[in-house]
Amino acid sequence: MLTLAIETSCDETSCAVIKNGREVLSNIISSQIDIHRKFGGVVPEIASRKHIESINPIIQEALDKANVGFNDIDLIGVTQGPGLVGALLIGISTAKSLAYGLDIPIIGVNHIEGHVCANYIEHKDLEPPFTCLIVSGGHTYLVQANSYTNYELIGRTRDDAAGEAFDKVARALGLPYPGGPIIDKLSTTGNKEAIDFPRVLLEPKSYDFSFSGLKTAVLNYLNQKEQKGEEIIIEDVAASFQQAVLDVLVDKSFRLARERNSNKIILAGGVAANQGLRSMMEERGKKEKIEIFYPSRILCTDNAAMIGAAAYFNYKEGKESDLYLNVIPNLDLI
Ligand code: ATP
Ligand code: MG
Ligand code: FE
Repeated sequence: MLTLAIETSCDETSCAVIKNGREVLSNIISSQIDIHRKFGGVVPEIASRKHIESINPIIQEALDKANVGFNDIDLIGVTQGPGLVGALLIGISTAKSLAYGLDIPIIGVNHIEGHVCANYIEHKDLEPPFTCLIVSGGHTYLVQANSYTNYELIGRTRDDAAGEAFDKVARALGLPYPGGPIIDKLSTTGNKEAIDFPRVLLEPKSYDFSFSGLKTAVLNYLNQKEQKGEEIIIEDVAASFQQAVLDVLVDKSFRLARERNSNKIILAGGVAANQGLRSMMEERGKKEKIEIFYPSRILCTDNAAMIGAAAYFNYKEGKESDLYLNVIPNLDLI
């Protein structure tokens, strides 16, 4: 079964052709990062306009690369939310036109579920149930996946998302957008014990997260250093900040896995590209005999292949949208 998938929730225009939910025939990603970088973040109106310009050529490119035509496609998958309303609309209206014109089924996909499903592409034998840590630019969820489409939401951030914290701290350090990959890189040379930033664990049994206090602690540290005219070692700030985020993410993920007798922890979302997070998870996983899974870097951040995988598994479980499908900018995972 061939799925053509479209992703336009934020600042990547992407189209993919996926076979049976796991095999990528093409996954074209056109990033607008260079355009938004000069504004320090994504400008919604510019994002929408860029999606309109790119979408048709990118669909054609995805078909060409997969060596298939429109008539070979069996299913259309498209991101329904969460994301920027104007950006999502471009993907949804294009997808609906295709489904109508080709007279094939369409499925609206939850973008966050897409991030999880990226793992099914990477790991061909991976099956639920598992514990999953979803850490993206706008969301931080700790979930227990019971099946391909059933998720129990156990914890979430009460303020900033993990990726958002990386981006905001990077901005305070004068680093370009998006900050996550740069902080990741600087952390490899910095001293992660140089500054003792707070680890916010919340109530003893809580699986929720909070990163805004940590972000404020970094800002205060930078302001104080500046006022005193002291030198700021940017690598040390990056490494110490990153470690404070990772300690909490890793701790809560393993606590949930143990509580649920889960022998697999899956990482998903842009922050799953973080080398520090991957290594720390794997090290702890070895000790606790829990296997760690994450997608390759390109499948961690936004792409249409993951949306195609999610569409396929939802379709297999009997779900289907219709042409009344509309965007839901604040769509929750459950
Ligand atoms: P959402 O998926 O929540 O709607 P999004 O689609 O904007 O948000 P993603 O594409 O999942 O987010 O990921 C982008 C985020 O991942 C950014 O915040 C970015 O800084 C972060 N990120 C990317 N690579 C790394 C890395 N190596 N280390 C840490 N963070 C990273
Ligand atoms: Mg993006
Ligand atoms: Fe995303």
